[in-house]
Amino acid sequence: MSLNALIDIDALSDQHIERIIDRSVALLNGAEPLIRSHIMANLFFEPSTRTRTSFEIAARRLGLTVINMDGPRSSMTKGESLIDTLATLHAMGVELAVLRHGQTGICHEILNHLPDGLALINAGDGCGNHPTQALLDAATLTSLGVAFRDAKIVIVGDLRHSRVARSNMALLSRLGVGNITLAAPEPWLPETVPDGVMVSQSSTLDDALDDADVVMMLRVQQERMDEGVDWAAYHADWGLTTQRLTRAKPDCWVMHPGPMNRGIEITDEVAGGAQSLVLKQVQMSVCTRMAIFESMLA
Ligand code: ASP
Repeated sequence: MSLNALIDIDALSDQHIERIIDRSVALLNGAEPLIRSHIMANLFFEPSTRTRTSFEIAARRLGLTVINMDGPRSSMTKGESLIDTLATLHAMGVELAVLRHGQTGICHEILNHLPDGLALINAGDGCGNHPTQALLDAATLTSLGVAFRDAKIVIVGDLRHSRVARSNMALLSRLGVGNITLAAPEPWLPETVPDGVMVSQSSTLDDALDDADVVMMLRVQQERMDEGVDWAAYHADWGLTTQRLTRAKPDCWVMHPGPMNRGIEITDEVAGGAQSLVLKQVQMSVCTRMAIFESMLA
């Protein structure tokens, strides 16, 4: 069954999840893309380097025509609503919209007002969800043979503001991960976790890392905070260093969705080290977004 919206992980059936992850890994390993001619629009109202580019490259590899709308320069600054913008684009032939927006929950809000036949992908809404990041993270781990059921996966840092963490908690739980541990300074622990997700919490990074198979580091999202951050203190307590990483299993993978604050949440040495998956995540991002397009434009 083809997908008509990807707003959060809950929107996906188990079959969709399996198909997207398997297809991501197959594409990474050289499978032929299912080329189709459709028009997709990238609508980005928040800064982005890798996500926007990776959606665009994925679309081009499938032969889609890509329209890049620069939010701040569109008619929306003249007061046009997002729904009007989407309806206008759809009237011109756009069949798929990829939306990044600073407002948490905006994709859920507009879902029932979309023009018929326009598919929507949430590329990150405020502190809400970022389902394609979670899917590409899971595909990256799958391609390396990580057994989710037996794994301890630690998510570290600014969980409160992280849509990446939220979507990852939802997806890792759906994939049956045995132990999802959250580690953050008290004020940055999430206010809620997605429905049905069981997590452990740790108040120090060192303890959280014990026996970890995967550690997912998060960026400190200063732009979503009112208060300032004591960067040196944060790094001292929560920065992932080579020394700290020795608490985890010797083959523990290190992930970060980017952009990284090097020297704050992660040192250069760890980010560039043999256990780091940062660039593999970026490489997989194209395959996963191709797999998602395939699921939506079938
Ligand atoms: N790139 C990710 C996002 O858009 C993570 C981050 O910005 O920290 O949510």
